[in-house]
Amino acid sequence: MTLSLSKRHEWVLQSEIRNMSIECDRVGGINLSQGVCDTEVPLVVRQGAQEAMDQGVNTYTRFDGLEELRKAIADKQKRFTGMEVDPEGEIIVSSGATGALYCTCLALLNPGDEVIVFEPFYGYHISTLVATGAVPVYMPLELPEWAFTRVSLEKALTPRTRAIIVNTPANPSGKVFSKEELQVIADFAISQDLFVFTDEIYEHFLYDGRQHFPPALLPGMGERTITISGLSKTFSITGWRVGYVICDARWAQTIGHFNDLVYVCAPAPLQMGVARGLRELGEDYYEGLARQYRVKRDMICGALSEAGMAPFIPQGAYYVLADVSRLPGENSKDKAMYLLRNTGVASVPGSAFYHDEAGESLVRFCFAKDDPILEDACKRLKKLRI
Ligand code: PLP
Repeated sequence: MTLSLSKRHEWVLQSEIRNMSIECDRVGGINLSQGVCDTEVPLVVRQGAQEAMDQGVNTYTRFDGLEELRKAIADKQKRFTGMEVDPEGEIIVSSGATGALYCTCLALLNPGDEVIVFEPFYGYHISTLVATGAVPVYMPLELPEWAFTRVSLEKALTPRTRAIIVNTPANPSGKVFSKEELQVIADFAISQDLFVFTDEIYEHFLYDGRQHFPPALLPGMGERTITISGLSKTFSITGWRVGYVICDARWAQTIGHFNDLVYVCAPAPLQMGVARGLRELGEDYYEGLARQYRVKRDMICGALSEAGMAPFIPQGAYYVLADVSRLPGENSKDKAMYLLRNTGVASVPGSAFYHDEAGESLVRFCFAKDDPILEDACKRLKKLRI
């Protein structure tokens, strides 16, 4: 037989995150490796979906999503950021932020186009680029502030550069890009005529008074920014698969056609549940979310410091990278395994977020866990004391 897997199959191997989850299950440990929030789904969101199902909203929706949801997204965007969005033509509801980025890449990139990605990166961004024939070009963020300069952006530039991905608040670093930093990226993108693809899925997970600023709002950026987000994290509905793209109508139509091709539509009744949540949940919900997660962040950062694994305190999102150079092991995978075997807490080796060895002294913990589970994990980590 001469049949074989496609060349791109190597890029969809089990991710390190899934591997650690499997290993964690095997030893009956506490899984702080995967970004799955086990906090409660707001009641109105559940009721909205249930009622939609009962009322017969169970068939395919329009390729760009139900009107109720597109309108609710436009209203929410206006309410939180001041951004004016036309729900008829500038929003595509997709299968999570993941589907939204995939369709964006299919619609706007040609094979061989290069896309600048900040490192440490979120692995799916890289796999999505590669799966669609684009080429990631890595741009390191410098510790301890996860800093970058215009010069480092220019170093990553080639005649084939077509876009930059900006994930703010970021997974795994927890960096919240400041308006000044986004202005550096915007000036660069405008001067080089690049698209900016954002991933703003953690837009409501902000600590210490940080503000989320959507890059599309900067002067000259509206037409070249593809704003991507979703509700997986905000409403703890990672399994529902509801996300979206906001962009200029010039791009939206084709992104929508690819969305139709790959997913047809996001689940109809679940779109209704999300629309209801966006409409009915007030400021207090979002503020409560940030407050609740700040307590979790402080809890795990305190435990990591006590255990001798210095955390890089996240400004947003719900992950923390910790310096594990004092743990035994040749590389970050050994160190994460040592941690799992000796504390029963699963983390993700830093190598999952870098294309080179820069991540070998880091591991990532996800703190989107119910308090009793997180408390237990912290107690176990503190016992380590290295
Ligand atoms: N983007 C980032 C940065 C993430 O960390 C995750 C999940 O971990 C996603 C996107 C996935 O979003 P969705 O569930 O909307 O596809």
